[in-house]
Amino acid sequence: MRKKIVAGNWKMNMTFEEGQKLTSEIVNMYKDEAVKNVIAVLNPPFPHIFPVKKLIGATEGIALGSQNCSDKDGGAYTGEVSAKILASFGVQYVIIGHSERREYFKENNELLAEKVRQALAHGLIPIFCCGESLEIRTAGTHESNVKFQLTESLFGLSPEDFSKVVIAYEPIWAIGTGKTATADQAQEMHAALRRHIASKFGKEIAAETSILYGGSANPGNAKELFSKADVDGGLIGGASLKSRDFLDIIKSF
Ligand code: PGA
Repeated sequence: MRKKIVAGNWKMNMTFEEGQKLTSEIVNMYKDEAVKNVIAVLNPPFPHIFPVKKLIGATEGIALGSQNCSDKDGGAYTGEVSAKILASFGVQYVIIGHSERREYFKENNELLAEKVRQALAHGLIPIFCCGESLEIRTAGTHESNVKFQLTESLFGLSPEDFSKVVIAYEPIWAIGTGKTATADQAQEMHAALRRHIASKFGKEIAAETSILYGGSANPGNAKELFSKADVDGGLIGGASLKSRDFLDIIKSF
């Protein structure tokens, strides 16, 4: 059985106090409402990592992630944070290749492959993001485009390493726009990605790979998205900043 995961991507939001309040509420609701079988991953901005870790404590089912890591192992790289440092602070997951990083920080498939390697080398689980622009969707080449992102950044891994990776399919036209992909569009792409993974790493590994959907997921559409056979959870932006909404999404399985 592959893991069900709902990851909250706070992006560049939340002051110290706001982050503390949000985390405490999520931890309390997760416990009080006895959530089972869904891993919640909180991905705050870097300075929150340690205090959020403390609030999560030993809460079973809630994990800590970061939104990025360096492609370098360490050394004179001012402003960068390595997977090694993150791991030493108890970080378990790392979002790699979010479309905002690809677009605004010019991260390409090759660099992302290095980041994935760094994450895995230090025991972090990469949440590898892929997704197409509206132009590509309109041109009808979305499937080959997204498959290519996986091929370029992940297909150089050993099967053992690949089996640790979580995929997040996030159509760029659906991120922060309020325009969600339909559950059928998500299912179609997730199934295509799973077949693509099977063609390289075999059916067994493909069947065990969690593929999350991201892009304007909210408490109103999560149930339908998560009901699809190949949708194993979500990567949630805006709605992860409100504890009630985030919990309702988690409980949509
Ligand atoms: P959104 O963001 O849920 O606000 O659309 C998703 C993401 O960018 O991960």
